[in-house]
Amino acid sequence: MGALNEKRIADYLAAQPQEQIISLKGWVRSKRGNKDIAFIALSDGSTIKTIQVVAELNQFDENLMKRVTTGSSILVKGKLVASQGAGQTVELLAEKIEILGDCDPEKFPLQKKKHSLEFLREIAHLRPRTNTFGAILRLRHAMAFAIHKYFNDNNFYYIHAPIITGSDAEGAGEMFRVTTLPAENAPKNESGEVDFDKDFFGKEANLTVSGQLESELAALALSKVYTFGPTFRAENSNTTRHLAEFWMIEPEMAFFELEDNMDLAEDFLKYLIRYALDNCRDDLDFLEKRQQEEELQMKKEDRSSMPLIAKLEHVLAESFERLTYTEAVGILEKSGKKFEFPVSWGVDLQSEHERYLVEKHFKKPVILTNYPMQIKAFYMKQNDDGKTVRAMDILFPGIGEIIGGSQREEDYEKLSKRIDEMGIHRDSLWWYLETRQYGTVPHAGFGLGFERLMLFVSGMGNIRDVIPFPRTPRNLEF
Ligand code: ATP
Ligand code: MN
Repeated sequence: MGALNEKRIADYLAAQPQEQIISLKGWVRSKRGNKDIAFIALSDGSTIKTIQVVAELNQFDENLMKRVTTGSSILVKGKLVASQGAGQTVELLAEKIEILGDCDPEKFPLQKKKHSLEFLREIAHLRPRTNTFGAILRLRHAMAFAIHKYFNDNNFYYIHAPIITGSDAEGAGEMFRVTTLPAENAPKNESGEVDFDKDFFGKEANLTVSGQLESELAALALSKVYTFGPTFRAENSNTTRHLAEFWMIEPEMAFFELEDNMDLAEDFLKYLIRYALDNCRDDLDFLEKRQQEEELQMKKEDRSSMPLIAKLEHVLAESFERLTYTEAVGILEKSGKKFEFPVSWGVDLQSEHERYLVEKHFKKPVILTNYPMQIKAFYMKQNDDGKTVRAMDILFPGIGEIIGGSQREEDYEKLSKRIDEMGIHRDSLWWYLETRQYGTVPHAGFGLGFERLMLFVSGMGNIRDVIPFPRTPRNLEF
C-alpha cells in the first residue's frame, strides 16, 4: 500500500482498537513520561487532535528515544489499543520508532508554551505546525471548497479572471505596477515620461484589484458566473482588516437586480457559516477556546459579546437587516455618539460607523443599499433620484464591510456619461462599454473578501493571521 492510500491520524482516532500493526508518520508535539514509559503526542495535521503514542522504554534504544523531541518527525509502528488515559479512546502502543528528521530542541522556536500571534508571524515558515494555524489552514480549505460547492450546486460557472490588467479604471484603490523595464534608466518618451510602449505589453500594466469587469463579460453570456482569485491593492493602510494581497470571490449574475443580489449574498454567507459549523467543529471549538483565553487579557469593552460558535449560530438565526444608506445616516446622526469621523449625508461610512450599526443598533448583520453616487464606483446602476446608486454593502459584527456589491449600470448612455464625468480614460474600457451596446441586460454582482470571511468564521482578530503568508506594507519575508 503506497502513501496515496495511507490512513491519517484523524482516521485512526475515529477507529476501534485493532489487532494488526499500523504505521503512522508525523511531527512530535510533545513528549512526557517517566523512566519506564514515554507518552508522545503525534500530529500529522489531519486534525487538531494528536494521537498518543505510548513507548515502553525498556523496548527502545535510549539514544533513539533522546532524538524524539518536540518538532522532530518520526515513523511509528504499533498496535492501536484502547486508551487508559482520559481524553482519547485509542492510542498507539509503539513497537518500532524511526526518526525521519531530527529537531534540535535548543534551537526550535516553537516550544510547548503559548506563543504570541505577533511572534508567530515572524516565524511564518513554522507556524503551520501550531494548533492555531493548523485549525486556520483546515478551515480556509473547507471554506474555499464550500464556496466552489455552493456555486456549482447553484449552476454558476467558475471564470478565471486575469491577474495582470491593462485597465486602470476599476477604481478600487492603488495598484501594483507590473513591468520588465529596468528600474534604472527606463526608456523615456519625448515628454520625458517613462515610455511604456517599450514595456512588455506595450502599455502600462498592473496587478488586478478586482475580477469584476471581466466577470461581467462572462455573465453576459453564461448568465451566472463567479471568480475566486487573488487581488492586489497597494493602499498603505496598516489595519487589522486590510492586506495588499487578498483573495476575493466575485459572483456576477445576468437578470439579477439589487434584491436578488442581496438574497444571494445572504444565502451564500449563511451556507458558508453552516458549512463550517457542520464540517469543522473540532477546529472551531479550539478557536473558540483560544479566543476566550486571549480575551481574558483584554479590556471588557474590547471583548466579543458572544463566544465564537454562539456568534455563528446567531448570524444563521437572524435575517440580515436591510436599509438604505440614507436611513443609516439618520440612525447614526440620532445616536448621540461622538464618532472620530463625524457623519452626514454624503460621507463614506467608516468602520466605526458600520460597527455601531451592526453591533450596537441592530445587533445582527446589516445590508446597506442606495449609497450616494459620489462615493461609489462608475459602474453602479443609477437611481432615478439622480443622487444615489444601487450599491449594497454587507456589514458584519467585529468586521465592518465583508461584502461590497451592486446592480450594474446596463444603460450605455448613462454609463458612458458617468465615465466621462469621473474623468476615467474611456479608451481602456471600450470593451466594457460595448457590452452595453450588444444585447445589454440588467445584471448584478458582489465581492466577498475571503480573508474577511475567515476573520469572522475563525474569530481571529487580525487579517494577517488568517492567510498563510500575509502581504502588508514592509512585510515580504516568506
Ligand atoms: P474597505 O472599505 O473595507 O477598504 P473596499 O470598499 O475598498 O473595502 P471593495 O472594493 O468593495 O472593498 O472590495 C470588496 C470586498 O473585498 C470588501 O467588502 C472586503 O471584504 C474585501 N477587501 C477589500 N479590500 C481589502 C483588503 N485590502 N484586504 C482584504 N480584504 C479586502
Ligand atoms: Mn466596498
